[in-house]
Amino acid sequence: GFKCGIVGLPNVGKSTLFNALTATAAAEAANFPFCTIEPNVGRVGVPDPRLDMIAKIGGSAKIVPTQLEFVDIAGLVRGASKGEGLGNQFLANIRETDAIIKVVRCFIDENVTHVEGDVDPIRDAETIETELMLADMESLERRVTSLGKKAKGGDKDSKMQLDLVERALKVLEQGKPARTMEVSEDEAKSFQMLQLLTAKPILFVCNVEEEAAAEGNALSAKVAEMATAQGARSVVISAKIEEEVSQLDSEEEKQEFLETLGLEETGLARVIREGYALLGLITFFTVGPKEARAWTVHKGAKAPQAAGAIHSDFERGFIKAETIAYTDFVELGGEQACKEAGKMRQEGRDYLVHDGDLMLFRFNV
Ligand code: GDP
Repeated sequence: GFKCGIVGLPNVGKSTLFNALTATAAAEAANFPFCTIEPNVGRVGVPDPRLDMIAKIGGSAKIVPTQLEFVDIAGLVRGASKGEGLGNQFLANIRETDAIIKVVRCFIDENVTHVEGDVDPIRDAETIETELMLADMESLERRVTSLGKKAKGGDKDSKMQLDLVERALKVLEQGKPARTMEVSEDEAKSFQMLQLLTAKPILFVCNVEEEAAAEGNALSAKVAEMATAQGARSVVISAKIEEEVSQLDSEEEKQEFLETLGLEETGLARVIREGYALLGLITFFTVGPKEARAWTVHKGAKAPQAAGAIHSDFERGFIKAETIAYTDFVELGGEQACKEAGKMRQEGRDYLVHDGDLMLFRFNV
């Protein structure tokens, strides 16, 4: 699965947000045959109105959204990389994620202490980034030693890697995250294998007071500005509201509650969608009388890989894909009409999957 790690300083609302996510996941669990929820891992359905539309047109009995995993990564504090808590477990957890969600506190509440004394999300974001950069430097320095030996022994691959590692170190020493460094196509794979924390894409989540949930506040506006300058994105949520919504039983109650607050959807829905985009993922659909289902692949995936997302046998025995664009399916009103209008395409191994494609795979067993 695709994973987003949630990090932030203590007392910013991470657990509140994470609990709301997992409560939502638990409520949805009935829809997911293989949904397991570990204490710090929540798997949630990605909200997608297109899927509901497809199910309606296709007369599907069941709707199965695609999923995204969120991992609650506790333990980040100032000085963490100098041994004040950024333990091995923390590092192992965060290295394994595909993207990082940084929760920053933008709500003022005298009853909730801030570890740094006052509320300042920009400083907090910098503290987090610094700790992650220091952790990256440490792991790179360890590699320099071992790679240096192999490179001296004449190993070509080690030489290339050593050069990459040394360049990454230089970038970090200048106070810049690893994601800003230039990496050639040949190096891309090695770079990825370094699993640098500051190379991962980031999303800022601004936790604001309930009253500011719709528009954000002055602090979240500053974070948004900073995010834009870094080529990142930010989302405003109120963890408190998310917690309350997640405890309501029915969809109707949730909608009603959101409406009274002037909100169109939950902040979680936005976080999930942004997380999805952050990971560079796209969705394709399968539809039939039994179920309409959404599936996830990386942008750039070809038809056989999409088949493999459903079952490895589909990829191995791939013959062709019958494909309908989402807009054709909706405009013409279903598969049969698309067939008749010549809008159902036969595609081969090289077909680049588009976001929103409806796909049916033909394969040998
Ligand atoms: P974590 O340490 O980052 O996981 O933070 P928690 O989720 O445990 O929250 C720390 C405290 O802040 C708890 O007492 C929460 O109830 C409170 N809190 C979290 N979000 C909000 C919020 O949006 N508004 C207010 N007033 N308090 C919040």
